[in-house]
Amino acid sequence: MSAPSAHDVCIIGGGVTGAGIARDLSLRGLSVLLLDKGDWGAGTTGNSSWMIHGGPRYLEFDWNTTRLSTQDAGYIVSIARNLVYRVVFIIPVMPHDKNNIERMETAMEVYDRFQPLKKAHPHTRLTAAEALQVEPGLTPDLIGAVTMEEWGVDPYRLVFANVQDAIAHGARALNHTRVVGLVRDGGRVIGVRYRGSDGATSEARARVVVNAAGPWVPEVSRMAGADVHLRPAKGIHIVYPHRISNFSISAESIDGRDLLMVSHAGFTLLGTTDDDFYGDLDSVDVLDDEVDYLLQAFERVFPSIRTYRPVRTTTGVRPTLFKWRRYEDELSRRYEVIDHAKDGADGFVTIAGGKLSMYRLMAEQTSDVVCRKLGHEAPCVTATRPLPGNESDVEPAAELGRRSGITALAAMKLQTRHGSNAGAVLKDSRSGRMICRCEPITEAEVSWDGARRSDSTPHASSFVKHGWGARQSSAIPVGRRKSSRSARSEVYPADGTRRFAREARVRVRRAPDAETIDAPAFAARESPGNICVRRHSPAAV
Ligand SMILES: Cc1cc2nc3c(=O)[nH]c(=O)nc-3n(C[C@H](O)[C@H](O)[C@H](O)COP(=O)(O)OP(=O)(O)OC[C@H]3O[C@@H](n4cnc5c(N)ncnc54)[C@H](O)[C@@H]3O)c2cc1C
Repeated sequence: MSAPSAHDVCIIGGGVTGAGIARDLSLRGLSVLLLDKGDWGAGTTGNSSWMIHGGPRYLEFDWNTTRLSTQDAGYIVSIARNLVYRVVFIIPVMPHDKNNIERMETAMEVYDRFQPLKKAHPHTRLTAAEALQVEPGLTPDLIGAVTMEEWGVDPYRLVFANVQDAIAHGARALNHTRVVGLVRDGGRVIGVRYRGSDGATSEARARVVVNAAGPWVPEVSRMAGADVHLRPAKGIHIVYPHRISNFSISAESIDGRDLLMVSHAGFTLLGTTDDDFYGDLDSVDVLDDEVDYLLQAFERVFPSIRTYRPVRTTTGVRPTLFKWRRYEDELSRRYEVIDHAKDGADGFVTIAGGKLSMYRLMAEQTSDVVCRKLGHEAPCVTATRPLPGNESDVEPAAELGRRSGITALAAMKLQTRHGSNAGAVLKDSRSGRMICRCEPITEAEVSWDGARRSDSTPHASSFVKHGWGARQSSAIPVGRRKSSRSARSEVYPADGTRRFAREARVRVRRAPDAETIDAPAFAARESPGNICVRRHSPAAV
């Protein structure tokens, strides 16, 4: 074992929470080590619905979470404006829905009061005819609809932007590096033991160790002899490699839950389920019944949904705080920062619960606790300090494309990933050489990202190293087991959806290396900002 490295803080978990803490503490002048057992953002974060939202649903039972996440969403869309895009929802109201049109509009009127906090527009009420005019794919049976505006984001890029900025401010960040134990000195935690991608075990000393392991928080806290109770809840999405509608659409499920078909830039996420999860967090399957449950709900409001070809599914587990006796989707999304000094593990801090939409606030409050423990006085600056690529406005994409010998579309897509750094990315002599025509990705971009990942443990394939390969778990085939849940086991005809899902499963099984490129997954992860349908330029945020 090599000699241990020494840092002020070691953070376990490179999802959005851990990456946000690494950035916050580095900007406050502390030396930071960030470790993740997989790739950046590849845990729950990357398998989310990709939305920076307030969550109008929580207004009914968790008003404060809506307020906090709307407020933090406002900061996030300002500091990450190249990564976000407006997502406009149509919420159709059907006969016998749990909310009639009046109730739905009243809820939206309340939510409208929060919308300015995240720079979103108020709702509009639509008659059935108006709703059908803007989205003819909706069922003619609808009674009316309301609109709602949220933000979409590429969470992988958001995490990586935080990691990049942390590295730029002195942090060390190692992915594919699993923490296997904590180093203790009596009642204190003084570091971590980790295993890198080469299999070697090393130690790192830290004055404070932060557990930001999302749903794995209980597993990591047990290493310190502390119990943190979560009520993990699994959610899946069906992924379509294109937009089905220019709008996002909501639907009520058979058991009255709110489901969403979210139109991201170049792909659609249809989800999500919300079920208590008791299994192995490192091996989460998608069930036929879960796919059926989602399609059944959407067929009611969007009758042609089964004619579209899905390419894969995603699955993630929410790190929800424990609560007895509530349905999963009624659980609060609040979070908690826990100082384990009370558990005989001084120097060990856990952040549990929360949402992607308020990761910055969670990081700020965790960093405040860490700074207090270290007697370090420095203010948080992440609410206003732009993430890399957002320091200035982007130049017109057509101009950048002309100068660099690439199409305006390629330049615009590049800007959605790199913001005002897009010009610098293309300064590389290999600028115009495309390595992926459908996306499109230039060789220059691959080499730029690679150079900025120099502190990350390299992976065999350069694509995977750059975070662009399909992870096995994000290409999980549909349908391994049957759920026993009767409300979700209704049979529907073996249609195109099932067939394509099965074919996808065969493809995944045949792949010699599960982390080789999967074009649809690649497209889904790398295509924020669709030039045809984008309504507001990032600079207008
Ligand atoms: C289906 C679904 C949809 C969602 N949609 C939204 C949404 O649209 N908007 C929203 O705001 N929220 C959404 N959420 C919630 C949101 O995704 C999560 O709250 C958030 O991403 C959690 O981030 P995290 O960093 O805490 O956890 P994670 O992203 O899971 O990160 C934890 C990291 O810890 C690492 N780790 C674990 N153990 C170790 C170890 N021993 N050593 C090293 N590393 C380790 C893991 O590899 C992982 O990368 C959704 C959640 C789900 C499941």
